[in-house]
Amino acid sequence: MKRGDVRAVLAQGRVYVDGQVANDIAQLIHQFSQVYFDGVVLQGQTPLYVMLNKPAGVVSATKDKDHKTVIDLLHRDDRDQLHISGRLDFNSTGLLLLTNDGYWSRQLSLPDRKIEKVYTVTVAKPLTHDYVDAFAAGMYFEYENITTRPAQLKILSDYVAEVSIQEGRYHQIKRMFGRFQNEVMALHRYRIGAVDLDATLAPGESRDLTRDEVAALA
Ligand code: URA
Repeated sequence: MKRGDVRAVLAQGRVYVDGQVANDIAQLIHQFSQVYFDGVVLQGQTPLYVMLNKPAGVVSATKDKDHKTVIDLLHRDDRDQLHISGRLDFNSTGLLLLTNDGYWSRQLSLPDRKIEKVYTVTVAKPLTHDYVDAFAAGMYFEYENITTRPAQLKILSDYVAEVSIQEGRYHQIKRMFGRFQNEVMALHRYRIGAVDLDATLAPGESRDLTRDEVAALA
């Protein structure tokens, strides 16, 4: 359709965007705008935001030829629209967010937003107060040529710590404990920003985020 024809169609009131007659050719349409032409839907994807309690032994990917993926755990027709916002390693567990809203997930991963991710970490060797200082000071990662942002480590018991980081470098927490030659035995994420893993979700279970949860991370 030529531009002139589009103007005519708009002037005739045949196009609706999000329930309103559209008459401005310059009107911005976003990914989830509901667009109708002569009563027929042209686009109308629903935004989806899901939290999953990821079990160990599942890949944070949409496809994998050897292992079950987090998408395989979701029993819903729209699951193939979803992408992962902030992966967890194969054996890590806990709060994983999935969405079809690329803008929302990009915003979530912007380093300047400093969104905290909080983990319970179980390690092989006893923890000492040196860890607290080293995590707070940041660690230089040669491969990426970056120093990690200050991270908080709280010792909960000899082998268990709560760790809060504001970024998500590759295997970041394992590499940080690796500086002390201390192997991570279990890693469980239970909070991202203001959103906690729903305690009623068993490993492998998921639910839609509430409106407030979506807004809290937007
Ligand atoms: N850091 C890690 O090393 N692994 C994860 O899964 C998450 C953070």
